Amino acid sequence: MRFGIILLTLLIVTTASAQTIDKQLYDAYDIYKEHALRNRRFKHKDLRPLINFLKNNSRFKVEKLGESIEGRSINMISIGNGPTSVLLWSQMHGNESTATMALFDIFNLFKSEDFSDFRTNLLSKLTIHFVPMLNPDGAERFTRRNALGVDLNRDAERLQSVEAKLLKGVRDRLDADFGFNLHDQSRYYTVGYSKNPATISFLAPAYNYPKDINKVRGNAMRVIGKMNEVIQKYAPNQVGKYDDAYEPRAFGDNIQKWGTSTILIESGGYQNDREKQEIRKLNFMSILSALEVIANKTYESEDYSKYDAIPFNQRQLFDLKIRNLTYKLEGKEYRLDVAINRFEMEYDNHRNYYFYSSVQELGDLSIYYGFEELDAKGLTYERGGVYNKAVSYDDLDGLNFIDLLKRGITHIRVNDIPSNVRFTKYPIGILTGGSSLNDRLSMGQHATFLLKKDGLPRYAVVNGFLIDLTKKIAQVKNGVVR
Ligand SMILES: [Zn+2]
Repeated sequence: MRFGIILLTLLIVTTASAQTIDKQLYDAYDIYKEHALRNRRFKHKDLRPLINFLKNNSRFKVEKLGESIEGRSINMISIGNGPTSVLLWSQMHGNESTATMALFDIFNLFKSEDFSDFRTNLLSKLTIHFVPMLNPDGAERFTRRNALGVDLNRDAERLQSVEAKLLKGVRDRLDADFGFNLHDQSRYYTVGYSKNPATISFLAPAYNYPKDINKVRGNAMRVIGKMNEVIQKYAPNQVGKYDDAYEPRAFGDNIQKWGTSTILIESGGYQNDREKQEIRKLNFMSILSALEVIANKTYESEDYSKYDAIPFNQRQLFDLKIRNLTYKLEGKEYRLDVAINRFEMEYDNHRNYYFYSSVQELGDLSIYYGFEELDAKGLTYERGGVYNKAVSYDDLDGLNFIDLLKRGITHIRVNDIPSNVRFTKYPIGILTGGSSLNDRLSMGQHATFLLKKDGLPRYAVVNGFLIDLTKKIAQVKNGVVR
C-alpha cells in the first residue's frame, strides 16, 4: 500500500515535470490562433488591419520596408531587444501562405500576458524580426510568382524584383544571426519512401555545390535537430528533409552564404487538412521551439546526427489510390492500380476553389500510397452510364443519387445549365452539349467511374471521391460539369 502511494506520487511528479513548455504551448494554441485568417487564400488587404493593430501595441515595432511592384506594402514586425538577431520571412511564393498564418498566431501569443517567463526569456535574449507575405502581388492571385512573373527564389543574385531587393537589404542591414525561410511544399511529398506525408520538412540549405558544412550552416543543422525532436511529438514520423541540392539563385542558399544561419521550413500535406490548419499549428510550434533553442543556446551542444537522421522527402502520395482493380480490355482481364489526384480549380477572384479530379497514374503502383486507399480485389472497373431521362438544372435537387449510382448511372445530361456553372454539390457527373464519356481508362481522364462486384456497383468514384454504395447517402466535396 505504502509502495503504491510512493509510486503514485512519483507518477504525479513525473507527469507534472513532463509538461514541457512545448506541450503547454501546443495545448494553449487555440487561444492565440488568429481567427481573421481561416484558410490559405487570403490577401494583403486581409493582413493590413492586423498589422495596423500591432502598430498600436508598444511591444511591437512595425517598419514599412517598401512596396511590391504593384504598390502593396511590405512590412517588418520586430520584437525583443536581445543580442541575437533572428529574421523570419514568409510567402515569398504568393500561394504558400501557411506560415504567414502561424506568424500572426505568434504575434497574438506575444500580445498576451500568458507564458510570461517564456516570452520574457526570448525577448531578453533575442531581437526577432518578421516579414510576413514578402510577395503580396503573388498572394493577390494566389500564384507562386510575383507581378513581374519571376520566382523570387531565383532572384537572390540578380535582384530584379523589388521584393527580392527588400529581403536582401534587410538581411544585410540586420546581419541576422539566424534566418527562417518559410514555404509550402507539395502535399504529395512523403517522409522518405514511407506512406507518411512530409507534413513539415526542414533544411539547412547548402551554400556551395559540395554542400560543405561551416559554422553558419552547422548551427542551422543543430537547431533543426532540436526542432525535429519537438515536432515528432505532435506529428510522429511526419517530418522530412527538403532536397539539399545547392541552387545558386535561391535565397536560402545565399543567405546561408552571406553569414546568416538559415533554416527552411516547408509546410506539406496532412490527412484531412487541405486548408493546412493543423500544419499551421505545427509551424507555430516549429518556430517557437526554434526560438527557444536559439535563445537558450541549447543547440550548441548538439552534433549533426539528429539532422542527418531526418529522411529526405520523396513523392510517393496521391489523394486516392485504388489497388488491384480488374480492368477488361478487348475481351481480356488485367489487374491495375489507379492513382487519382484532386486539383483545385479557382473561382471568386482566387479566394475559393472546387475540385476537378483526374487519373494521374496507372499500372503497378505498389511503391505509392494514397491519403485514402481502397483494395479493389474482386472489383471490376466500369465507366458507368448516362441517365436516360432529360433533367433540367433545377430538377437535380430532387434526385436520389445513391440510387442512381447503384443502378450504374454516373452521369446526367443537363442542357439548360448556365455556362458559368462549372461544378455542383451533387455526387454525379454532369454532361452538357456534345460532351461524351471515354470507354477506356486512361491517364489524365476525369475520375468518375464504378467498381462492380458480381456485376453490381459496389463503389462509385465521382470526381475522385470514393463512395461506398452500401451507405445511405453519397457524399462528395463537389461534382463537375463537363
Ligand atoms: Zn516556396
